[in-house]
This record gives sequence, structure tokens and C-alpha cells, in this order.
Amino acid sequence: MKRYDVAIIGGGLVGLLTAWYLSREGASVILLEANDFGSAASGANAGSLHLQIQYPEFVRYGEGWARTYAPTLRIIKESIDMWQKLGDEVGEDLDVKIGGGIIVARDAAQLRFIEAKAKIEATVGIETQILDQVALLKKAPYLSKDALGGGICASEGKANPLRVTFAISRTAIAAGAALYRGTPVFDLSGKIGDFSIKTARGSFRADKVINTAGAKAADIAAMLGMKIELGGFPLQVSVTEPIAPLIPHLVYSAAGKLSLKQASNGACIIGGGWAAHQRDNGHLVTNPLNFAGNMAIAAGVVPQIANTRTIRSWTAWVNGTSDWRPIIGEAPGIPGFYLALFPWVGFSAGPMTARIISDLVLGRPPTIKLDGISVLAD
Ligand SMILES: Cc1cc2nc3c(=O)[nH]c(=O)nc-3n(C[C@H](O)[C@H](O)[C@H](O)COP(=O)(O)OP(=O)(O)OC[C@H]3O[C@@H](n4cnc5c(N)ncnc54)[C@H](O)[C@@H]3O)c2cc1C
Repeated sequence: MKRYDVAIIGGGLVGLLTAWYLSREGASVILLEANDFGSAASGANAGSLHLQIQYPEFVRYGEGWARTYAPTLRIIKESIDMWQKLGDEVGEDLDVKIGGGIIVARDAAQLRFIEAKAKIEATVGIETQILDQVALLKKAPYLSKDALGGGICASEGKANPLRVTFAISRTAIAAGAALYRGTPVFDLSGKIGDFSIKTARGSFRADKVINTAGAKAADIAAMLGMKIELGGFPLQVSVTEPIAPLIPHLVYSAAGKLSLKQASNGACIIGGGWAAHQRDNGHLVTNPLNFAGNMAIAAGVVPQIANTRTIRSWTAWVNGTSDWRPIIGEAPGIPGFYLALFPWVGFSAGPMTARIISDLVLGRPPTIKLDGISVLAD
């Protein structure tokens, strides 16, 4: 049986990028994906390239949490730089646009929260410019006239998840990685230099293993007796019919959960962390009350949305941790077993997460030091 240098479990954005990065460095890599590449969160997310601290969590968890979390933004910041080169590297247009992200306040208390949040973001070199009503409406005339002010983080934007994972899987294969879809891993055992991975297509052997199983990563870690605090949370997103170019920014609201952007084909993608409904059989369906709540917030911020037909909504599991901090690095006490898990905004952070885990697996110092960022470095 062929033995690989590295086995990667999970073919989402992080697993696929890692397969590519390691293969192009000469490692022999096998990637095992239960379903299809990008069939989980990486292909079903809203495509926002988030950088700023998310407003609902800032209000909910407070400044102490935000200060602890802020160093993590370094990964996302560098990752967004990587996003801007990714299309050229894979030779495909991934619809990456960095038009800035605007958080809109409708009252003075919300604006004060945005200002306090911006101060913490500035401690890690992320600039959010505070805008009064005149400046905001000048920059974003499509916003409702009752917007009081807001903040703009220039480095945020969007990419097209429907294109990304396919493009990267092709690039990883061209670099020599062996990618298997329809190959769920159901057992993992062994140690560095001799891991055994049992799948629905038989067993594979590898010197090192990387867990990139997203929302299911805790199940993979448990196979080696490791407990991680990470779960799957059901989310939904909706998309409208294409409309004329209107919204060049990623738009958030301080009045309720929202992410809103216009894709290159004119469709508006509307989400922001609204929960989907889980049926008794485990399948996810759109939660109609949350759909209505999401649309009401969207139309309150961008009135044109009320005039626009919504044509589809979809659901998927996101990988989440309660403190929002990533789990990246070699498992303590299990040499050769690595985890590359960036919660909640793992699409934005995917490229740098993959770069860092590739550095570690190749025995190099990581591009970004993980102290104060990954829980595994605490
Ligand atoms: C609806 C929604 C909207 C989102 N919007 C955004 C956004 O706008 N911006 C943003 O930055 N982030 C967003 N996210 C989060 C982001 O999509 C994820 O954090 C990111 O895609 C995670 O990537 P990943 O590669 O780590 O995991 P995933 O994409 O979840 O991939 C993990 C893979 O592992 C596979 N797997 C699991 N168990 C096994 C097993 N036993 N054997 C083999 N394979 C296995 C799965 O099938 C899956 O393909 C959103 C998520 C959702 C669900």
C-alpha cells in the first residue's frame, strides 16, 4: 500500500489549499473528502471577505472578548491579501473584489459601539474609518436615508465560493496531490510516521495527518482521543434576482444581523449568520421566520432590496467555536496530527490558515506566529 507524507481529511477550502501548498513543495499528499470538494461550508457560504470584528459578537461578548480575539484578525488580514492573488495563481477569475465593508448605525448608541470596536481593531493594524451621516450617504448613496453614520473597513470584500473550491481542486491535482471525493473517513489510528486512515474506499497510510473536516472536525479529533471545543451550526443565506449595479461594498447593519453584497452578475447575496432549521432527519431547511427577519434588516438598510425578488435560499453547517478563536497547529501529545480549523469566517481566513498549517507540517516557523491566536498555542 502506498504511504503518503501527508493525509488531509476534509476537502473544503482549507483542505484543498493545503493539499496544493504541500504538493507544490514536493510532499506526497492524499486528501480524503466524504462528499464532494467544497460541498460543505466552503461551497455554500455567502462569499464575504470579512475582516472587522463582527458587530453582533462585539456587543454580545464585550470589549474584553474583542481584545482577546483581535490578534486573530492578523490571519484574516494576510489571508485577504492572499485572496487578491489567488485568481492569478490558479488561472481563473474567482470574482475577488475588495470594495470595503460598511457597518451602518441607525442610532447614536450603535455608532458608539462601532467607534469602540474600531479602536480595538486599530490595535492590530486594522483601520476602520468612522463616517458621519453625510460622509456615509455620499460613499454609499444606496443606503436608507435614516442611516445615522457608520464605519468602513477598506480591506473587506467578496469572492465567489461557487468557483473557488473547483479551481483549487484542479490546481492541487495539477501539483500532484491525490484527491479522493466520496471517501468518508471513519477511523484514524497510529502515530507519526505511521498513521492508518480507514475510509469507505479502504485504508490509507500517511506519516502525518491534517484535520480540515470543518464542522465535523471534532469527530475526527475524537478518533485519536482528542477533544476539541468546536461544533457545527446550521446557517442560511438567500440570493435575489440580478439587479443593475448598486452596491460595491460588503454591507452590515448594527440594527440586526446582516451581510449584504452584490455579486458580479448583479444578484444580491443576503445573510449574516441567521440560523437554518434542522429537520428530524438531520437535514437542513430554510427557517422562514429567520428568512423574514434577515430580509427585513436588509430592506431596512438598503431600501432597493424591498423591490427585488428573492429567488433562492440555501443552508449549510458552519464550523464554530464559542470564543471565535481558531484551532490551528499540531495536537498537543499527538505528534504528526495537525488541526486547521478557522471558525465562523473560515472562507475569509482559509488561504492563510492553509499556508500556516503547511508551514508547520513542513517543519518551518509559521508565516504568522500563533501565540495569542490559536488555542493550541496557549
Ligand atoms: C451558510 C454559511 C455562510 C457563511 N458565510 C461566510 C462568509 O460570507 N465569509 C466567511 O468568511 N465565512 C463564511 N462562512 C464560514 C465558512 O464557509 C467556513 O468557515 C469555511 O468554509 C470552512 O472551511 P473548511 O475547509 O475548514 O471546512 P468545510 O468547508 O466545512 O469543509 C470540511 C470538509 O470536510 C469533509 N468531512 C467532514 N467529515 C469527514 C470525514 N469523516 N471524512 C472525510 N471528509 C469529511 C466535509 O464533507 C467537508 O467537505 C459561512 C458558512 C456557512 C455555512
